[in-house]
Parts: sequence; C-alpha cells; structure tokens
Amino acid sequence: MLQNMESEVLKKRLSNVKERIKKAAIDCGRDPDTVRLVAVSKTMPKDRVREAIKAGADILGENYIQEARDKINALSSYPVSWHFIGHLQSNKAKYAVKLFDMIHTVDSLKLAKELNKQAKKINKIQKILIQVNISMESTKSGVHEEDAQKLIKEISLFENILIKGLMTMPPFFNNPEEAGPYFSALRALRDNIRDKAIKNVNMQELSMGMTGDFEVAIKEGATLVRIGTAIFGERN
Ligand SMILES: *Cc1c(COP(=O)(O)O)cnc(C)c1O
Repeated sequence: MLQNMESEVLKKRLSNVKERIKKAAIDCGRDPDTVRLVAVSKTMPKDRVREAIKAGADILGENYIQEARDKINALSSYPVSWHFIGHLQSNKAKYAVKLFDMIHTVDSLKLAKELNKQAKKINKIQKILIQVNISMESTKSGVHEEDAQKLIKEISLFENILIKGLMTMPPFFNNPEEAGPYFSALRALRDNIRDKAIKNVNMQELSMGMTGDFEVAIKEGATLVRIGTAIFGERN
C-alpha cells in the first residue's frame, strides 16, 4: 500500500516537473524538445529509481561511482541513459567510462587524458561536458572561464573523447532569478567557443539548472536540466 502511494507521488512529481520544463521552454519561445531532463537519483535506493524509470525518466544522473555502479547493474534491463554529474577523480575514470553515457564534470586535462585512455581500452567514444566555474567560487570545481577554450582545444585532440558542451553550477540564491547572469555567461562562453569551430568539438549542450532554478536556466538556453529534489523529494 505504502509502496503504491509512494510510486503515485513520484509519478505526479515527475509529470509536474516535465510540465514545468515544457511551460518554461514555450514561455521563452523555445521548442520544448530541446530541453531534456536528467533525473538526479543520487542517494535514492534502486527501487525508487526503478519507479522513476517506469514513470518515464529516461536519463538518470548520479554523483558517486560506487553507488551508481550498484544501481546501474541492477537496472541494466531498462533502456535508459546514465549521466555522471559528480566530482570525478582520475582514479575512478575507468569505472565512469564503463558506466556512463555522458560525464558532465570534466575540468582538467589530467582527467580527460585518463578518460581517453580508459575509453580507448573498451573501444568507446566517451561523451563529456566541460564543467566551468563561472562564479569563480573557490569551493567549486570547474575550469575558470578564461581557461576553458584552451582546455577544450587540448582535449579535442583525444581520439576517444567527444566534447558535447558545457556544464555549470551557479551559487545558491533564495531568489532563482539571481542565477540568471551565471547561466547567460555560460551560454555566451558556449556560443563563443562554438564560433571557433574547433574540430571534434560539438557545443550543443548546456547542462545547467536544478530544482531551485531550472526555469531560469531554460530561459538562458539550458538543454539539460539536472533535477533531483523536485522529483524524488528531499534527500537525507
Ligand atoms: C544533486 C545535484 C543536482 C540536483 O539538485 P536538486 O536541487 O536536488 O535538484 C543537480 N546537479 C548536481 C551537480 C548535483 O550534485
């Protein structure tokens, strides 16, 4: 009974988030199909994640390799895509490449080099995003804006990596509108790099926007919104 109720709540929350995404896109004149939802399932047990998949979540975002490995293996019969959105250490690159279709958080040449090496071993072209520390907060990961182009040029030479765009996390604001300038700065950087037409670099994706600010991010051009709490509820 409880199980049933919980899965109904999850279903409602998910469809509510999808509606909000659609509305935000339409409100700013964008095609809703250009915004995809990454349902962030970190810390959620595999049964909850399975419910979300059954309710229509088709991209799942995870932050921790060990935790993700157990869930991905348990749910391998579902045709969903897994994205890594946590901080990745080079010594875990091997697992990340095996498990994830897209890695959102590449911010160093060292990490990219290791991902390339591991991807080559299993004959895979690993899709990645470059994480940019737009707000320059010392506590945040990500390459600084002024170093992003150089890093992207260097990574573009790796044969088993395909750069698909940029990712950022702005500071937290009580008023989500205040995150707008950070999102628009990421978009401007994306456009700028796209104009350079670097070989092997595709700048179509902008991964930005979470539960508190995704509508603002969509207005500023997000193509991937990473939403956890609004779908799964508060994390412990
Ligand atoms: C946890 C997390 C999210 C989801 O955050 P919510 O506020 O729960 O939507 C998005 N992006 C990253 C990188 C995260 O770590």
